[in-house]
Amino acid sequence: MAILRMKSPATTDTTLARICDAIRTRRRFLITSHQRPDGDSIGSQLAMAFALDALGKDVRLVNADPAPDHYLEFPGVDRIRIARTLDDRHIDAVIVMESGDLARTGVSGLEGFFTINIDHHQGNTSYGALNWLDESAAACGELVFELIRSLGVPLTLDIATHIYLAILTDTGSFHHSNITPRTFDICRQAVEAGVNPAAMARRVFDSNSFGKLKLIGALLDEMDLMDEGRLAVMYLNDEILAATGTTANDTEGLINLPLTAREIQAVVFFKAAADGEIRVSMRSKYDVDVRTVASRHGGGGHKNAAGFSVPGPLDAVRGGIIRELTEAIALGLQSRP
Ligand code: AMP
Ligand code: MN
Repeated sequence: MAILRMKSPATTDTTLARICDAIRTRRRFLITSHQRPDGDSIGSQLAMAFALDALGKDVRLVNADPAPDHYLEFPGVDRIRIARTLDDRHIDAVIVMESGDLARTGVSGLEGFFTINIDHHQGNTSYGALNWLDESAAACGELVFELIRSLGVPLTLDIATHIYLAILTDTGSFHHSNITPRTFDICRQAVEAGVNPAAMARRVFDSNSFGKLKLIGALLDEMDLMDEGRLAVMYLNDEILAATGTTANDTEGLINLPLTAREIQAVVFFKAAADGEIRVSMRSKYDVDVRTVASRHGGGGHKNAAGFSVPGPLDAVRGGIIRELTEAIALGLQSRP
């Protein structure tokens, strides 16, 4: 049987060893992640928290925003305190998941602690005392898995559940282009530890409210097709939410729907917030690179999933963003497999 090379190169081994040492020699940990957390943030944070529990550490979790509703019943999610300011100074180390810089956490007061920075996005600013950055990981949860194994913590069902959650969601349910043998090897171990993939998929993707189904209908009804059907443009505003009895939380995952049409190569979802800011989320297929578009506007992400925020109004920014996406589609289609 071929032996899978699970880990990345020697630099990773050294960083990993240093992070293990830093964890073993410290007692009180705070784990945080980016604002508007997703399945990878929640999964990475809680897998790490359960592993630190197993090592007898004191663990606290804080996020700027609550987890989307369908994650609330996952083990330990109620341990995450929602706060935008950290008032607790009795911390030996902060572990930050998935955040290119400290500002992306949306939590102030994190500066000045011994910080372990774990991320798989491009453009991370290496703000930690220890920085483990691996863009080849399909989810931050892959890195957390390696760390937990290196710490010698057994893969309990709670830990495995969160690692699987991180991977299932951050790969867009195994659709994105950064999936490797490592991804499946970790999932295999999670399933061996008791994770039920069918139940996980149902819990994460099939837990919609009726309101959310109506929201899907309304969003698709108002969707624009541009670039000869290659680009789908969706809009969210308070009126659609009110008409369907939903909240912005219910929009999670909906951006992926248009990509199920064969012709559509990229989707942009404009969400108007109360403060006049516009959240721009993008998804794409194959080599259509939406991260480049996001990084031009001060955001980030991955080739097939990226986002940023801009001041409105929508009419002032929409045209330029659509032009950039049309160019990204043309470039990406040149190397279509
Ligand atoms: P979203 O569309 O919000 O689900 O984000 C898709 C991907 O882009 C995720 O990996 C996010 O972490 C990343 N992303 C979204 N917004 C930003 C931002 N403002 N800065 C950096 N990365 C972002
Ligand atoms: Mn991620």
